[in-house]
Amino acid sequence: MMTEPGLLEDFRRSTESFAKQRLAPGARERAHSPDYPRDTARLLAAQGLLGLSIPEELGGQGAGLLAAVAAIQAVAAGCPRSADIVQAGNFGPIRTFAQYATPPQRQRYLPGLLAGEKIIGLGMSEPDAGSAATELKTAATPHRDGFLLNGTKVFSTHSADADVFLVYVRYGPGLDGIGSVLVDRGSPGLTVGPPSRFMNGEHWCPLYFDDCLVPGDQVLLAAGGFRKQISGFNVERLGNAARSIALGRYAFDEARQYLLTRQQFGRPLAEFQGLQWMFADAMVKLESAQLLLERAAAAGDRDGLPSAADTAMAKYAANEAGYFAADVAMQAMGATGFSDDSLVEYCFRRTRGWRIAGGSVEVLKNRIAEHVFGRRFSQRG
Ligand SMILES: Cc1cc2nc3c(=O)[nH]c(=O)nc-3n(C[C@H](O)[C@H](O)[C@H](O)COP(=O)(O)OP(=O)(O)OC[C@H]3O[C@@H](n4cnc5c(N)ncnc54)[C@H](O)[C@@H]3O)c2cc1C
Repeated sequence: MMTEPGLLEDFRRSTESFAKQRLAPGARERAHSPDYPRDTARLLAAQGLLGLSIPEELGGQGAGLLAAVAAIQAVAAGCPRSADIVQAGNFGPIRTFAQYATPPQRQRYLPGLLAGEKIIGLGMSEPDAGSAATELKTAATPHRDGFLLNGTKVFSTHSADADVFLVYVRYGPGLDGIGSVLVDRGSPGLTVGPPSRFMNGEHWCPLYFDDCLVPGDQVLLAAGGFRKQISGFNVERLGNAARSIALGRYAFDEARQYLLTRQQFGRPLAEFQGLQWMFADAMVKLESAQLLLERAAAAGDRDGLPSAADTAMAKYAANEAGYFAADVAMQAMGATGFSDDSLVEYCFRRTRGWRIAGGSVEVLKNRIAEHVFGRRFSQRG
């Protein structure tokens, strides 16, 4: 586990220097391409940046969540889009998969995922189950060779490219009826629909399951697995928080440089107090969110997985801070920030999406309120 501060700092510094040399030159092109940057994924795998968060006994590098946070943010400092690869290789469904997979399942999927050759997508959201994720209807019905899947998933990140999907399913009624299965792209009965485009530039495709046969050995979590899944999903939320802060910082740094040189009324913009205070506010929000994020990651490294309350506070603070910083940066750069010549507008669009994705800020605040009052508040009418 890479928790020693000096070691972690060296790792962060060397990763950032790699990102600035090797990734920064193609950063703009990658940001504006809807395709998953597979060549860059192989490069990051070779650089040892995938599987950091996965314990060694589960097939990963065992460096821990703090190291993975350092990696994702250092990569984003050179190329914001490439941070998505570090997410996919450390924080996304790969982490839940590694945690709960059987040894043969790990053997089948993990080497390709950690080499940057394959991608795993998460099928959780449905047309009628967004924030109320437990209302999911995708049914897994017993069949002599496993289960038959019927239902629809929407909004999945990387669904246009993923080789395999971790799909939340319902084996029976109620919370205890929920679990998950692994479905390969190309499986009979799975149709990947036409892509739609999010405002952030990402494409997503609906997934239609129509009597899709899932063999018994492709079950990840049987009925009763929902709580375990959400514990794994808290790791995904930390990666989302780390990128929010990192992209907010990227935009902030671009704008800071711009304000030091751009002159209006015969003075650099940095000399106007109205702008200075915007940057002071953004800096305090980014730095405090970073502390909450590192606290949640450090506790996760100590306890195995991050706690729901720590994660909710970190993601909420990070989502707001990243978006605020990107918005400040864009405003302070005027039309230059609003133009896609720089990545400031890209960071603005991406940070906006993370206030919705993976547990919206409102849903996180509900979770934090439960922590405050020490009781559950059902959202049902
Ligand atoms: C960029 C992006 C990537 C995504 N990637 C994935 C993915 O990989 N896999 C996947 O399965 N899904 C993914 N999603 C979907 C995401 O998980 C959902 O968008 C999210 O859970 C919210 O659901 P919804 O969009 O249906 O909004 P709704 O649940 O319909 O909510 C609409 C609004 O109401 C608010 N709201 C709802 N309930 C409450 C409440 N109880 N209290 C207060 N406010 C409430 C919400 O915060 C939101 O502002 C992604 C979404 C985005 C934007």
